[in-house]
Order: sequence, then C-alpha cells, then structure tokens
Amino acid sequence: MDCIFCKIIAGEIPSKKVYENEHVLAFHDLSPRAPVHILVIPKEHIASAAEISAENSVYVAKIFEAIPEIAEAAGVKEGFRVVTNSGTSVGQSVMHLHFHLLGGRAFSWPPG
Ligand code: 5GP
Ligand code: ZN
Repeated sequence: MDCIFCKIIAGEIPSKKVYENEHVLAFHDLSPRAPVHILVIPKEHIASAAEISAENSVYVAKIFEAIPEIAEAAGVKEGFRVVTNSGTSVGQSVMHLHFHLLGGRAFSWPPG
C-alpha cells in the first residue's frame, strides 16, 4: 500500500519520533503550524475518522490514552488542541488516520 504514514511506521521513511507503543506512534509534523505540532497515529492503517468502528476503536482509545503523556513531554499539557481532518474536502491530505496535537500558541475558535 502506498501510504506515507505506514512507511513511517515501517521505518522506510524517517520521522522525528516523540512517542511509541504497541498501538501508537507520534512524531513531529514535517510542516509545523504551531510551536508544538505532533501527529499521533495508529500503527494500523485506518484511512480516516470516518473508518473508525467497533473493530478498530481500540487504536483510538490507545491514542487518547497516550496524548496526556505526549502533551506533557512537549510542554503543553496545560493547553493543547487535538484535531483530525476526515476527508479531502476539509483538508485531509494523508489518508491514514492521524490526530494533530497542536500547542504553544493561541488558536481561534471555531477553526477556519
Ligand atoms: P492532514 O492535512 O491530512 O490533516 O495532515 C497531514 C499532515 O502530515 C500535514 O500536516 C503534513 O505536514 C504532514 N506530513 C505529510 N507528509 C509527512 C511526512 O512525510 N512526514 C511528516 N513528519 N509529516 C508529514
Ligand atoms: Zn497507512
């Protein structure tokens, strides 16, 4: 499968990893949009949030269990935003589920 994030999981493409366990990988975004911009992904190929189901939701749980530790290590535990884009119409560019963990600056609400 031609998936950039599966290749990062397999170690075929380098990444700046910040966290890893059996289910979850987190690494710095290549084009950061904030002082802290980390991508948190499942180690199984799930195309987007639209593909989350009872069969694979353990990955989502494991991601959110890991997020406090990732945020703390990044120095933003007191304030951070978690975002996922599902579908090209709202800006998803990599078709492997990922949660953007953003922090270190102010953010507008609602997002543009
Ligand atoms: P999306 O646009 O799908 O919500 O987010 C995809 C994110 O992946 C973007 O923020 C983009 O900068 C990041 N990205 C794309 N390719 C790579 C890569 O090869 N390595 C890393 N670390 N980030 C990537
Ligand atoms: Zn993938």
